[in-house]
Amino acid sequence: PKGYAPLTDPQSSFYARRIYGRIHDCWNRPIASAPGPWVDVLERESLEGRTRATRALPPTGARRRCLNLGSYNYLGFAASDPYCTPRVLGALSAGGVSPCASRACGGALPVHSELEAMVAEFVGAEDAIAYGMGFATNSASLPVLCGPGALVLSDALNHTSIVAGVRSGGAAVRVFRHNDMRHLEALLRYHIAEGQPRTHRPWKKILIVVEGTYSMEGESPPLAAIVSLKKRYGAYLYLDEAHSIGAMGGTGRGLCEHAGVDPRDVDVLMGTFTKSFGSAGGYVAGSRAVIAYLRRHSPAHLYAAALAPGAAAQVVAALRLMRGEGGGGRGAAKVAQLHGNAHYMRRRLIAMGLHVLGDWDSPVVPVMVYHVGLLGAISRALLRRRVAAVVVGFPATPLLLCRLRICVSAAHSREDLDYALDAIRDVAEVAGIDYARPAGRLW
Ligand code: PMP
Repeated sequence: PKGYAPLTDPQSSFYARRIYGRIHDCWNRPIASAPGPWVDVLERESLEGRTRATRALPPTGARRRCLNLGSYNYLGFAASDPYCTPRVLGALSAGGVSPCASRACGGALPVHSELEAMVAEFVGAEDAIAYGMGFATNSASLPVLCGPGALVLSDALNHTSIVAGVRSGGAAVRVFRHNDMRHLEALLRYHIAEGQPRTHRPWKKILIVVEGTYSMEGESPPLAAIVSLKKRYGAYLYLDEAHSIGAMGGTGRGLCEHAGVDPRDVDVLMGTFTKSFGSAGGYVAGSRAVIAYLRRHSPAHLYAAALAPGAAAQVVAALRLMRGEGGGGRGAAKVAQLHGNAHYMRRRLIAMGLHVLGDWDSPVVPVMVYHVGLLGAISRALLRRRVAAVVVGFPATPLLLCRLRICVSAAHSREDLDYALDAIRDVAEVAGIDYARPAGRLW
């Protein structure tokens, strides 16, 4: 088109209105309470009796108490925890909401160093650096670590913050099929010869980037195989543990613990505080040299306001709980509770004939729908039964691989899960997504 382009792309808003408008109207309602196992969902115009909701309906002010299956609050530390919350409030009243300055320019607080030391010790790395935002932890660290001349081998299902980071760095990017080690090895072989010294390659460095638990699949990569590949071909490994830290491994130390891999074999361990820790922000952990380099060069460290003191205090308190130190040692049992809930949910959903993805321990439990036209109806039918669960479709997943994504938490009781399972069984039967149910189908 000729002329000056409008700020909003009319084509994208056409699709956004037609497709996402419907899907997003399902369960993206504002919630009026802390993200505990039950939440108050603000009602839009009445859901009852409507056959289709075409766009965001106006809020009515009414609240609906719903079981929360959409939150990343995996260990239940986010909402009104008797150990964490008073410490957060104390940090807030002492230090305010934000330091209003970057770490490099007067925004550094003692709680930041305390937090970084605790994170490094927890994940088994030499040092760590904390950032004010999880997304920016990826999107601003990756370009610093791999600029022009570097080759990035990235899993096809990596999170958009990783994609943003590797693209903006200017490195060459090759995408390998999700969790496909043969494809990863084929790409490595194509770009370098096995045993070729690092100094005699066309690449300054090669970085393999994977996630600890994929947020739409609930599954983990074969970490031991990736570590052996990266050693064989002299590449580096970057592991995004946003969904696996706190949730995977016997004590919540993430995928390395789960897979029995030495964390020092992973060059960069990245994670966010927005899931298991119930806070905000993110971290990168690794060798002293890598972290010192990030402190000197990372724009999110140098030019963005430092992590809020309340958010940092929440992570410190959650880490103490997980190490079994505070709150009478009850925190240490949370990970086992989360795994018990995830196993129970998966077992019961599979018994209903649903197609469930992911690892048994993973708190992300995707239930395949395979029919984009059903997503909105499923979400609204669950909401009517007071179950708030996220449905995801394109572009977060391929168009036909749309799904209902359930997130379980250690804060859910068995009664909560049974309540959810009853609602899901009713809805799945009516929607006909219980593809593997042995008998009783009408067609
Ligand atoms: N990495 C992954 C794998 C994620 O799933 C997310 C968001 N859920 C992020 C990074 C960004 O984290 P945050 O939401 O804390 O900004």
